Amino acid sequence: MVDKVKVALNGYGTIGKRVADAVARQDDMTLVGIAKTKPDYEAYAAAQKGYAIYAVDVAKAGPEFKEAGLPLAGSNEDMIKKADLIVDATPAGIGAKNKKMYEKLGKKAIFEGGEKAELTGTSFDAAANYDEAIGKQFVRVVSCNTTALCRTVYAIDSAFGIEKALVTLVRRAADPNEIKKGPINAIIPDPLTLPSHHGPDVQTVLPHVNIITAAMKVPTTLMHVHSVNFKVKDKPSQQDVIKALEKWNRIWLIPPWFDIKSTAGIMELGRVLGRPKGDMPETAIWKQSVTVDKDGDIYLFQGVHQESDVIPENIDCIRAMTGLEKDKMKSMAKTDKSMGIGKFKAWKDMPPQ
Ligand code: NAD
Repeated sequence: MVDKVKVALNGYGTIGKRVADAVARQDDMTLVGIAKTKPDYEAYAAAQKGYAIYAVDVAKAGPEFKEAGLPLAGSNEDMIKKADLIVDATPAGIGAKNKKMYEKLGKKAIFEGGEKAELTGTSFDAAANYDEAIGKQFVRVVSCNTTALCRTVYAIDSAFGIEKALVTLVRRAADPNEIKKGPINAIIPDPLTLPSHHGPDVQTVLPHVNIITAAMKVPTTLMHVHSVNFKVKDKPSQQDVIKALEKWNRIWLIPPWFDIKSTAGIMELGRVLGRPKGDMPETAIWKQSVTVDKDGDIYLFQGVHQESDVIPENIDCIRAMTGLEKDKMKSMAKTDKSMGIGKFKAWKDMPPQ
């Protein structure tokens, strides 16, 4: 029996708190603890869950934690020393600074999509390139948008061979708890020059795919939406395309009878199903949007829950890097089962009688 892998979370915000909860659900991993810069409601919730809390700067935060009545287990360096692997979910750019500490202590680390691809040399999406992360010391799990794109691009490319992908991304301006970001009343083409960074980012995982992306930021916090167009080598039918997408558990084709007309409906489903934090980690493709024209070109709309779609990828990345599992399909199935991903997909396409 292989020992459980000891995982520490450095950075406990939108992504970090979700990865911590997902790690805690795995039977082949142990959560060593989480690192916080200061006591707040997130630290309170972590303590309620029984997670050991470490301070990024003990001298500064120690008295604050004491006053808040939250026990501290030590410094984040103490935490890192106890771990086999650190998931660094700090704000973009901080991970690059933290890497020196992981190198000094000889630890493996996962970085998130806000870090540059060059930081690790290996960028990750479970379905698309799991094998490349096996045994690596440093890997970057690509961003929320890139993860969703990699899933769909890989599903279509492996089935029909993509000649060209053209994607327009409509991006949420901020996460629900971010009060300092905007816009609140504008649409921002971001960047004005093409391509946006998302296409080249997909190519860090799937270098052979010809993809161009354009992006806009809009005043919403719920999800991103992508308008996707593929030119492919084969001439598939609409049914062929649906079948190729349905093969993957992390892609959910929204049945028309669900009557979900917007990102608000997708997130509401997550809430009414009572999923943890209302999360919808599956890439949600409106089934009736899947179109194939007379030339065999494919079109679809997909919704991306930015806060949660990268979480299962982090779990698979831990398994690949530590050698816990060498078979991507087995790792993905284990992760999905532990998180309830794809469970509600079992509902049939026809309305209940
Ligand atoms: P966040 O701001 O919600 O959380 C970051 C946390 O790290 C905060 O709690 C902050 O206090 C803490 N922190 C700051 N400096 C620290 C340090 N030196 N050591 C330890 N902790 C520190 O950020 P986030 O949205 O979770 O993003 C984290 C990473 O994930 C980024 O690379 C981001 O680009 C990427 N990402 C974000 C999303 C998203 O939609 N939010 C989606 C996918 C990937």
